[in-house]
Amino acid sequence: MGDVFISLVSPPQERREPVLWFIFRGRKILVMEEDNVPAIPSLNDIDELGLEPIRRQYLGTMCGQHCYAVEFPESSEAPKGMVFHGLRGLHGYLKESLYSIAIRAIHVIDWDRTHKFCSQCGEKTVSRSDMRAKECPRCGFISFPRISPAVIVLVKQKNKVLLARAQRFKEELYSVIAGFVEPGETLEEVVRREVKEEAGIDVKDIRYFGSQPWPFPDSLMIAFTAEYAGGEISVDGTEILDARWFEYDKLPHIPGKISIARELIDWFVSKQEKKKKH
Ligand SMILES: [Zn+2]
Repeated sequence: MGDVFISLVSPPQERREPVLWFIFRGRKILVMEEDNVPAIPSLNDIDELGLEPIRRQYLGTMCGQHCYAVEFPESSEAPKGMVFHGLRGLHGYLKESLYSIAIRAIHVIDWDRTHKFCSQCGEKTVSRSDMRAKECPRCGFISFPRISPAVIVLVKQKNKVLLARAQRFKEELYSVIAGFVEPGETLEEVVRREVKEEAGIDVKDIRYFGSQPWPFPDSLMIAFTAEYAGGEISVDGTEILDARWFEYDKLPHIPGKISIARELIDWFVSKQEKKKKH
C-alpha cells in the first residue's frame, strides 16, 4: 500500500482525528522542525496556532487523514517550533507524497484568492460543492482552477543534447527548450514551434516523456523528447542568449533535481552511458 491521496471538495461534517494543515504565507509553507526534518503540522484545529487564516480550502484525504489548505496574512509570525519555508527548497526533504499535496494546496489557495469575483460580470462567486469550481450566481459563469500547459523538450542528435541559456534564468545555466501552449495548438505543434523559435532548428520523432505540475504559479509541464531533423542553431539574443549542442559527458551548469528538465537530461545521460558500456 502506497500513500493514497483522494481529492475531495466537500469538507467532512464532523471529525475527531487531527488534520494535516498545508499553511501558506505568500509562497512559503509552515512546517514543524523535528530534528531538522520538516513535517506538515497535524492538529485538531487551526486555532491551536493562535493565528487567523485569510482563507481555507478542503483538499481531500491522505491515507484517510483530512487535508486542508490555508492562507495566513503576510504579517504572520511562525509559531514556536515551526518555520515558514520556501516550497521549492523543501523538495527532497518533505516526503514526496506530502510535497505533491503541498503543490496542490498552493495552487488551490492561489485560485481561491484570484477568483473571488466573476470574470464575466463582476459578481461575487460562490464555491460549488460537487466540483472544484466557482460559480457566478448572477450569470452562471463557472471558473475552474487555472492550469497553464507548457511543453518542455529535450532535442538530441546522436550523443549530443541541445541546451539553451534563457535570459529569464537567474543563474548562468543551460536547460532544455520550454514554452507555453497557445490557443488552438497541438502539443506536437508547440514542440516544433518552440524549438524553431528558440534555437532555429527543426525536429522530428517527437515522443511523450512525462509531466509535472509546476505551481509557480500554475503551469503543467508536459515533457517530450525529439530528434534533430535539420537546420543551423540560431538564437534571438534577447529571450535566448545562447544555444548549443553539448556532449552528454561535457554538460554545462544544468537545472536542479526538482525539475522535469533535469529528469529529461538525466534520462539522456544515463541512456548514453549505457550505450557506451555495450
Ligand atoms: Zn457573472
